[in-house]
Amino acid sequence: MSYKYNPKDFESKWQEKWYSEMNYSAKDLLLDKPKYYLLVEFPYPSGPGMHMGHTRNYSMMDAVARLRRMKGFNVMYPIGWDAFGLPTENYAIKVKRPPQEITKENINNFKRQLKSLGLTFDWEKEINTTDPQYYKWTQWIFLKLFEKGLAHKSEMPINWCPKCKVGCANEEVVDSRHERCGELVEKRNICQWVLKITEYADRLDDDLDLVNFPDSVKALQRNWIGRKTWYDIEYKIEDTEEVIKVSTTRPDTQFGSSFVVIAPEQEILKRLSRVMTEENRKNVEEYIQKSLKKSELERVDETKEKTGVATGLYCVNSITNSRLPIYVADFVLTTVGTGMVVGVPAHDSRDFQFAQKFGLPVKRVIEGPEGDRSEISSLEQVYEEEGRVFNSDFLDGLSSEEARNKVGEYIKERRIGDVVTRYHLRDWIFSRQHYWGEPIPIVHCEKCGMVPVPEDQLPVELPIVKEYEPTNTGESPLANITEWVNTECPKCGGQAKRETDTMPNWAGSSWYYLRYCDPNNDKEFVSREKSDYWMPVDHYEGGQEHITLHLLYSRFWHKVLFDLGYLKDKEPYSSRSIHGVVLGEGGVKMSKSVGNVIGPDELVEKYGADVTRAYMMFMGPYEGNVEWSTRTIEGVRRFVSKYYSFLQYAWDQKIEESNEQVKRGVSRLVNKIERDILEFRFNTVVAALMQFYNEYSKEKFDKEDITKLLIVSAPILPHIAEEIWSKTIGSDSSVHDQQWPEVDLTTLEEENIEIPVQINGKVRGRVVVSKSDDQEQVKSKIYEQNTLSSQLSDKDIKKFIYVPGRIVSITV
Ligand SMILES: [Zn+2]
Ligand SMILES: [Zn+2]
Repeated sequence: MSYKYNPKDFESKWQEKWYSEMNYSAKDLLLDKPKYYLLVEFPYPSGPGMHMGHTRNYSMMDAVARLRRMKGFNVMYPIGWDAFGLPTENYAIKVKRPPQEITKENINNFKRQLKSLGLTFDWEKEINTTDPQYYKWTQWIFLKLFEKGLAHKSEMPINWCPKCKVGCANEEVVDSRHERCGELVEKRNICQWVLKITEYADRLDDDLDLVNFPDSVKALQRNWIGRKTWYDIEYKIEDTEEVIKVSTTRPDTQFGSSFVVIAPEQEILKRLSRVMTEENRKNVEEYIQKSLKKSELERVDETKEKTGVATGLYCVNSITNSRLPIYVADFVLTTVGTGMVVGVPAHDSRDFQFAQKFGLPVKRVIEGPEGDRSEISSLEQVYEEEGRVFNSDFLDGLSSEEARNKVGEYIKERRIGDVVTRYHLRDWIFSRQHYWGEPIPIVHCEKCGMVPVPEDQLPVELPIVKEYEPTNTGESPLANITEWVNTECPKCGGQAKRETDTMPNWAGSSWYYLRYCDPNNDKEFVSREKSDYWMPVDHYEGGQEHITLHLLYSRFWHKVLFDLGYLKDKEPYSSRSIHGVVLGEGGVKMSKSVGNVIGPDELVEKYGADVTRAYMMFMGPYEGNVEWSTRTIEGVRRFVSKYYSFLQYAWDQKIEESNEQVKRGVSRLVNKIERDILEFRFNTVVAALMQFYNEYSKEKFDKEDITKLLIVSAPILPHIAEEIWSKTIGSDSSVHDQQWPEVDLTTLEEENIEIPVQINGKVRGRVVVSKSDDQEQVKSKIYEQNTLSSQLSDKDIKKFIYVPGRIVSITV
C-alpha cells in the first residue's frame, strides 16, 4: 500500500460510490431513529459558480451531518437552488439567451462543484425554485394568502430604482439606495401587490420566545418589527380652535417638555398655516420645500445639525399645563408616532441638539443612578435611561414605568389621548415588474374583477420569450406578450387579462424548507405526514445577510400555513446560527475587481477535497470572519498528508492491545471531536487532530483504536477515512456507515482547560490546553489557533511565560 498521499488516486472514486449508492438520503417517516433536519441556506446558482463562503459553510455543516448520522440520527441535509431573480435575468439580457437555459447550466456547474468536495447533500430531495413543479406551489401559497385577505393590490408610492427599472421593497433600500446596484431610488406611485405581514407583527415578535436563536438575531427581528407603545396626547393650540395630537413613547418625561415638533409632510400643517402670520407661513413653506428634497437618512442622521422653523404658534401641554412653542423640523418623520412629537431635551439627545440650536429650556425630570438630579448641560449628559421621576407634580416619586401607566390612565379618563401600539414593520410589497420570477396567479376580468387562477390550472408558467428587458413604463415585460396576457376569465369565461407582475425573489425561499420534506409531491405542497415528521427544522445555518428579511418572511408564511391548518408548528426553525465571512488575504473582501477570488475548483485541483474541507474548518472560529491564507492551507496540506501516512503506518504496525495512555488519548480525541463539531467549533476539531498526531504518531495502536481513529476522522477527512477503511478494516463496508464510538467519560481523567493568552499585556484570545501540557506544547497550540497565530505571525517573541493551568503571557 502506498503511503504517499495523492487525493487524485481515490477522491473521485469514493464520490462516485457515495452518490451512486445514495448512502446519504434521509429516510422519510423512519421512526426507529431520531430525525435531524439540518438546513443550510440554498445558493443562488450564479454564473461564476460557488464562492468560498459556500465552500466553507457547506463543508462545516457536512461534518455535522456526517457525525449525526454516525450518532444514529436520521439526518436530512438537503440542497436546492434559489434561482429566480435579477443576476440571471440581467445576464440573459446581455447574452440574449433564455434565463431557463442559463439557470440550468449554472445549476449543473454548482452541482459538479458540490460533488467534487464530497459533500453529502441529499440529492433525492433537490429542489429548484424556478421549476414549474416547484413554483406551482409558491403560486398556490400566494392564492391562500389572497383568499385569506392577506394579499391585495393597491396604488402606493414605492421605491423605484431607475437603473434596474424595478420597484423595490423598503427592505431592499439601504441608505436611500437600491441595495443591489447602489443607485439612488425615487418614489413612484404604482399599483402593487402587497402582503399584509403587519397583521402578524405581534406574533412574529412574541414567538421569538419559542425558538433558540442567538440574541443578536432576535434583536434584529424585533427591531425590524419595531413594536412600541405610543401615547398620543391632545394639546390645544393657543388662541385657536385647533387641537394637535402629539406623540411620545416616554410620557414619564412630560414635565420636562419644552417644545413640540411637527414633521414637514404632516397634513395638519396645511390647516395650521391659516392661523399663522403671513411671515411665519412663508418661512414654514420654504422650509418644507427644502426638507422634502432630503433623503430620510439625511434627515435622521445624528451627526447632522438639526434644522427647523418656528411656526409662531403655541400649544398647551395638557398634562403639565405649560406653554410650548411649535416648530416644523425634519428630524421628525411623519411615520414617527403621529408625525408630531413633544421635545424633552434633558432626556433625548436629538431633542437636546434642537433645544440648543433654538435656545429652548432643558429641564431634568428623571433621576440618574444614586438619585442624581444634576443639570443637563451638554449632549453627553443627556439621560435617556429610565429612573425615578421628580419635579413632575402628580408623577413625582414614581418609576418611569409607573409614570407611563399613570399618564396612560390620565389621558384615557379625560379623553385627551390614546395609548397606541405602533410598528416599524410595513406591509410587504410583493410585485416586481420583471420577467424572471413566479407569475402571480391572478386574472383580471372587467366583469368579475380579480379572479384567482383555479388550483387545477396551476402552475401559471412563464412563457419562453425573446425579450426580457424591463420596460420603463412600470409594467413587467410579460405585459408585451399578448398571447400570454390575453386569457379567459376562470369565473365568467369572458375575455380577461393575466396579471403581469411577478413575485419578488424572496417568494421561493419563504417556504423551501417545507418542500424539502416532500419534494416530488404533485398533490400538495407538502404532505402533512411528512411535514409532521421532519418539521421543525432542527438547525438552520446561514449568513448575516439573511437574518432580517428572509427569516421574517419565511416565519410569516409559515404562520399563515399554520393558521390554515397545514402545519403543526408555529415556528419553522428551532435554532439558528450565523457563520462569518471568508475574506481574501489581508482581510479584504474577495471580489472580481480586486482579483483575489478563489473558487473551490482550483482548490480541489491543487489540494484535493479533504485538504480543502479541513482548511475551511481550520481557518478560524465559525462565527468570525476569516481570512484566506495560502501559508495556512499549505500547512494543512502537510498535516493531512502526514496524517494519511500515519493512519496506514499505524495499521501496518498494529499490536494486540494499545497501552493505557494511548487508549486514553484516543478516547479524548473521540470526545473532543464529537463535542466540538456538535458545538460548531470546527477550527479546534482540526487542531485536535493535529495535536493528536503530534503526541501519538510514534505510538502503536490496536485494531480497536485504529478503527476509532478512522471513524472520528470521517466527518473531517471523509475520503481519506473511507480509502484507508476500505483497505484495512472493512473492504465491503463504508466508514461513514459506522457507529460513532462511545466514550466512557470517567476514563478521561485529564481535563482540557481553556486559558487566556496575553500579548503585550492584553488578553488577545484563549487557548485550550490539557493540564499536562508543557510550555512547548502550549506554544504549539497557540500557533495552531488562527486568531492567535495571525497576531503573532512575523513577530519576534521576546518572552513566553506559561503559568501552568492559568495564563500565557507573551511579549513581542
Ligand atoms: Zn437597482
Ligand atoms: Zn369574469
